[in-house]
Amino acid sequence: MPAPVLRAAILVVSTTASKDPSTDAAGPALQSVFETDGDGKWSVTATQIVSDDEEQIKTQILAWTDPKNKVDEQVNLIVTTGGTGFAISDITPEVVAALIEKPAPGLVHGMLAASLQVTPFSVMSRPVAGMRGRTILVTLPGSPKGAKENLQAIIKMLPHACVLAAGMDSRALHSGGVKKLEKEAGVSAAAHTHSHAHGHSHGHGHGHGHGHSHGHGHGHGLVRHETPSDTPSTSRLVSNDPSLGPTRRNRASPFPMISVDEALGRIEEFTPDHRRVEKPVDEELVGHVLAEDVYAAEDVPAFRASIVDGYAVVVPTTKDSQDTKEPSGTFSGIFPVVAVSHAEPGDEEAARVLSAGEIARITTGAPLPIGANAVVMVESTTLVSKTDDGTEEKEIEIRAANVHDGDNVREIGSDVRKGQIVMRKGDKITAVGGEVGLLISAGVQRVLVCRRPVVGVLSTGNEIVDHRTGLSDRLRLGQVRDTNRPTLLLAAKEWGFETVDLGVAEDQPGELEQHLRDALRRVDVVVTTGGVSMGELDLLKPTIERTLGGTIHFGRVSMKPGKPTTFATVTVKEAVTAAPEAPATERNVRPIFALPGNPASALVTFHLFVLPALHKMAGESTRGLSKVPVALSHDYVLDKERPEYHRAVVSVGAQDGVLRATSTGGQRSSKVGSMHTANALLCMPAGAAPLKAGAKVDALLMGSIRSGQ
Ligand code: AMP
Ligand code: MG
Repeated sequence: MPAPVLRAAILVVSTTASKDPSTDAAGPALQSVFETDGDGKWSVTATQIVSDDEEQIKTQILAWTDPKNKVDEQVNLIVTTGGTGFAISDITPEVVAALIEKPAPGLVHGMLAASLQVTPFSVMSRPVAGMRGRTILVTLPGSPKGAKENLQAIIKMLPHACVLAAGMDSRALHSGGVKKLEKEAGVSAAAHTHSHAHGHSHGHGHGHGHGHSHGHGHGHGLVRHETPSDTPSTSRLVSNDPSLGPTRRNRASPFPMISVDEALGRIEEFTPDHRRVEKPVDEELVGHVLAEDVYAAEDVPAFRASIVDGYAVVVPTTKDSQDTKEPSGTFSGIFPVVAVSHAEPGDEEAARVLSAGEIARITTGAPLPIGANAVVMVESTTLVSKTDDGTEEKEIEIRAANVHDGDNVREIGSDVRKGQIVMRKGDKITAVGGEVGLLISAGVQRVLVCRRPVVGVLSTGNEIVDHRTGLSDRLRLGQVRDTNRPTLLLAAKEWGFETVDLGVAEDQPGELEQHLRDALRRVDVVVTTGGVSMGELDLLKPTIERTLGGTIHFGRVSMKPGKPTTFATVTVKEAVTAAPEAPATERNVRPIFALPGNPASALVTFHLFVLPALHKMAGESTRGLSKVPVALSHDYVLDKERPEYHRAVVSVGAQDGVLRATSTGGQRSSKVGSMHTANALLCMPAGAAPLKAGAKVDALLMGSIRSGQ
């Protein structure tokens, strides 16, 4: 029986080699092992280089093990090289383990045993081996020498394993027992120090392997690795399963990195629309956006009122004046003062009827006597005679030109007419624009507005010390004072939102869940900080997704600071009536922003992502910080990969009126002080070279612009 030619693929896992394939020496080293030690049984049909990236490794392996519609591209053996050490970026064994359906610890033992003969440092390799479908997967170390020696340790045994794995006829292979296998492979128990153990595990594998092509462990007492459908990245749930422990978690974030614009788009899409609420017209209305057009309930003024202090008169109408010899508009003569009208309600004399030739003293804003049609200012008059007691005017002389019907009179409804629109849906009630006064003056008592969301802020972390209760305590090793909660509560308040202090949650799944459930009952938007990095205590994403059944819309953003910013929504049932006999409920969507723990990151991402969502829920048409172009006042070093939101002070030049931005200094995300004095976030692009002084960038304004020199 001619030896079958087995198809092998080599996967080089190296971020360096993926950028410059010429640096790869491990791939060629393995190729030569197949050629020189493979007894002509192997054909290396593919070699690929990927970086230390879960997705890339997985995608390439799956292309070889599960090729779509191309069974002939399926390979018998995949050896990976690289990423098996203890460095943080070393993830190959975990990625491969997640793909393995049947582990083959014997191959691992074989490799380790052989390489321990060479160096005790072999314990620093963490190989895995096993089967996926008909393919055998083996991870080899990244050093060309180590990779070569490990492959050499097992290559003689591999053809047999591959033949069985591929489901080829193995009866003939079996008939001679282990001895025959050893002979065929050119190995023997005596020649191979560790082949005794090998022989056993082989035999065992044979006994159980047939007929059980998938899914079962081999009774070795080993924990079977996850099948791909159970791994986080291929199921609907993306977050890490905290119960898996550190060795089986994703070592790189399973969330795709998206751009800031894309993140803002998702926030806009998934943040619920504003809800409407009726409110009385008073100072509490400030900050709200109207949810309806508002009509004047009354005329303003409600009566004919004088605009000046003076005398209400009856001037001839245009028709009357044609009969006189006086030039049109001249109003002169001596008139008796028959009444006084003050700006006081219920003044009896105000109701008096004035006839032509009579006048009434009147104060600003007072109602005109019936019959009066104009007011002459006091400055255009002289006193002619007094009453007998000398306290009141009796007669007044008026000499005034250009007096016409309606002069100095505010007609009923001339400022605001009853039924007229005074404010429109979408208009904002400010504290400085007089909107509350306008509504009050128009007799509007209640208005429909967009409800302003209530924001809850929760800090997370076992190390976090409450700023109220623990402020005077000396910090123990590892403890950190809670700066994020007070900072974000104050920022939210400053932007006009009601806030709820949700305290600190420890990094324990149950505790976090309890805090979040409680928060979802009490507030409209939950903002948390911490617990979104890649550490084992970073439980926010799994708790939101796996325990609360929420949807994570993004979990990683290409930005600095703030990369792990997470946005999710959870649907909650909410009672809409207080009546106990009719507990009607409504489904409501609550956004959760899980911001990074580093203080500068938390505040930057609050402004960048949380604020636009709050604005949307509050019905505001302009969302987030306003953007202005500014000139850099000095050179800025850029981040090579991610756009940066650089904390800066923007001031306006006193001479040239140009807006200039000066950095607040060190921008490390843990640095609380980088926000201090900042009134803007500069939108710096990613780039290798610094941006020069004078370059124009966009600035997002958090506070008012300073006056500069
Ligand atoms: P984490 O994302 O939880 O790993 O947090 C990242 C860093 O931010 C750690 O150094 C935390 O100690 C720190 N941190 C987290 N929460 C807060 C907080 N509320 N106040 C100050 N620092 C924090
Ligand atoms: Mg933490």
